[in-house]
Amino acid sequence: MLDFNHIIGHEQIIQHLREAIRSGKVSHAYIFSGEDGAGKNLLSNAFAMSLQCEDREETKDGCGKCRSCIQAASDNHPDIIRVTHEKASIGVDDVRIQINNDILVKPYSSTYKIYIIDEAEKLTEAAQNALLKTIEEPPAYAVIMLLTNNLNALLPTILSRCITLKLKAVDKELMKQYLMTEYKVPDYQAELSAVFAQGNVGKAVKYASSEDFNERKNDVLHLLKYIDEMELYEVVDGLKRLSDKKDGMNDYLDLMLIWYRDVLMYKVTNDLNLLTYKSEYQDITKQASLKSYEGIEKIIAAIEKAKIRLNANVNFDIAIELMLFTIKENGNG
Ligand SMILES: [Zn+2]
Repeated sequence: MLDFNHIIGHEQIIQHLREAIRSGKVSHAYIFSGEDGAGKNLLSNAFAMSLQCEDREETKDGCGKCRSCIQAASDNHPDIIRVTHEKASIGVDDVRIQINNDILVKPYSSTYKIYIIDEAEKLTEAAQNALLKTIEEPPAYAVIMLLTNNLNALLPTILSRCITLKLKAVDKELMKQYLMTEYKVPDYQAELSAVFAQGNVGKAVKYASSEDFNERKNDVLHLLKYIDEMELYEVVDGLKRLSDKKDGMNDYLDLMLIWYRDVLMYKVTNDLNLLTYKSEYQDITKQASLKSYEGIEKIIAAIEKAKIRLNANVNFDIAIELMLFTIKENGNG
């Protein structure tokens, strides 16, 4: 379902959009800003469905049953237009043909005519200027929604004429419950996926259902269990074998961070319930007792530094070896 009730998190944005419908003060242009997977499509789709619904509910949500809602749900609504683009960027012709010319034609069957521009950060400057003309003087029935992962890519003139809704991270517990009920993900896996996704529901679903991610997790856990007993060169080899490419390395490093945060968390609280890797509690409690606070903090800092170095394209081997050296150095006490 597409309606607001089936979206987890984003309460303030949903409240704002419902209120806009309730008060009849729907803006002509909205920007949904958030990273990929954060829920921009879900929110804009639900808003579009509510706006067009022929039998809106008390909550101002789409009813899900009328002709309009059914068309919206099947992505087949004549007055909800998704702007497409063939090239890497969204060009001025895309805007002229799909929006500026089309918008002059009255809605086919609904109150509004809605344009959804996904990946709006790909609009060229010329395309944005073309769009600006429409946003400045839109027909009464027009609603334009720009979805973007990068507000900086939009011209200030565009930004100043749109209502910008910034998607926030979704609460971890909400995501976990969602994965467990909607996707039947086991408790432990839901917890890890939710932590790992850092408030991004799309990512959480991806992690929870990804075999690849599960494998990575198991590989990392295996390495971390024995890391203190291994020789440095063995660890280096082990980690390099896990990841030939830099791409996967970020995930591995994040998985390692969660481990050492667990170690630190247990050392501070002695509470197993607070662990993300609950099933690994034996090894985590063992490392917590053997390592000093300072040592664990140094390890966490070293992993974070390795992430920064890799993103800055520092030599891969050097970045990883420096990190592993710190982990080994702070093995026991
Ligand atoms: Zn409806």
